Amino acid sequence: MRRRVFLSSVVFLVWGLVVVGGSIGAEPSWQAGLAKAKITPEAGLWMAGYAARDHGAEGTMHDLWIKALALSDADGKKAVLVSLDLLGLPGAMYENVCSKIKERCGLDRADVMFCCSHTHSGPVLSEALLDIYPLDDQQIARIEKYSAELESKLVDTVAKALEKMEPVELAVGSSSTTFGANRRGLRTGATGATAPVDKFVPVVAVRSEQGDLRAVVFGYACHATTLSDYEWNGDYPGFTQLAVEERFPGAQAMFVAGCGADQNPNPRRTVELCRQHGLALADAVCQALEEPMEPISPELATVIELIDLPFGEQPTDEYLEKTAQGSDYAARWARRLLKQKQAGQPFVKSYPAYPVQVWQLGDFRLIALGGEVVVDYVLKLREQLGPNTWVAGYSNDVMAYIPSARVRAEGGYEAGAFSVYGLPAMSWGADIEDRILAAAEKLSRQVEPVGVK
Ligand SMILES: [Zn+2]
Repeated sequence: MRRRVFLSSVVFLVWGLVVVGGSIGAEPSWQAGLAKAKITPEAGLWMAGYAARDHGAEGTMHDLWIKALALSDADGKKAVLVSLDLLGLPGAMYENVCSKIKERCGLDRADVMFCCSHTHSGPVLSEALLDIYPLDDQQIARIEKYSAELESKLVDTVAKALEKMEPVELAVGSSSTTFGANRRGLRTGATGATAPVDKFVPVVAVRSEQGDLRAVVFGYACHATTLSDYEWNGDYPGFTQLAVEERFPGAQAMFVAGCGADQNPNPRRTVELCRQHGLALADAVCQALEEPMEPISPELATVIELIDLPFGEQPTDEYLEKTAQGSDYAARWARRLLKQKQAGQPFVKSYPAYPVQVWQLGDFRLIALGGEVVVDYVLKLREQLGPNTWVAGYSNDVMAYIPSARVRAEGGYEAGAFSVYGLPAMSWGADIEDRILAAAEKLSRQVEPVGVK
């Protein structure tokens, strides 16, 4: 009897190696699954980005996508990265999608990461940019319908990616490109340390055991604002994804925006320039893929915290009444806030759930921050946590601009733009940078393997 138990343990162990490693005797490895869904809206829906737009989309330049990469480490710990050709995911939609994914797939919030490209040629979503466009009831109804469908597609795509996992190898490399310029510097003439940029292009390759490229995840810290017309497109990251997928047939190319809130493509505003920037980034990605890459060992840890970010100054009645006299989006923001006050609803004093997420994959660390994050954050976190650190902005919930202490003190659009996002504030609290960096560092230390800087 004892012997039979022993034998069945051996059979189970061998079976385990076959399932986990893909073949008998193989080292335990990563597993990955991929899925994607087209999310190009119909013509007529309003486009998100640029307050000056005065009507809906007229057509499609190229399709918009959501793409999911499900990963499972040697112990079966799972997580799913989702890239989206969208301006940003509104907080309410992020909440809904997280709870539906928990229900359907069993994944916690920490195990799912949504990274928006911040294309300014995608759709307006429900409960986002409340004041910037003069939307009538019919247009709002179309936005609600599209948003509900998008939520379902996000959950389905994550579930599908988890359904068909295969053994893969992961490796990380990097390259650089230079079309991103500090846009505050472009306006003021400042250069160097007073107008920092991040040329870094991090690249993670997902290859089958036979060495075929299954997926490539890459980043760049620069606004997707080359184009401002009326055709759906993913801006330069859209062109990059198309070019990389054309060069590697069968591979899924996924863009993760970096901390590029104060960076713009330069020059910009023609389709040709947009394609050119997209191809420059595709060249950088391909260069990183061709050079030796660092294998990532199959160990995954995920963590997330929703932190409280207090507002600084908040708008006074006098300021709102004066602003409400205008006819632009700031006037609509002021009128809505005044109405709210008159209805007896006081302004909230903070943004209570700013997402700071860290994934540790072997020695490689991916930090995902919510909102429009300026470049100082990636420069400081890389300095603080080491070169194996990749920082994504526009992740999970995009609720506002997130200035550093420097940008907050300098002022200007990237210090707040609260009327664009609809928040009842004039500035963030003075400790915004300290709070975010402290949370990112604390979470990074929680999940890093011993000995990693
Ligand atoms: Zn932006």
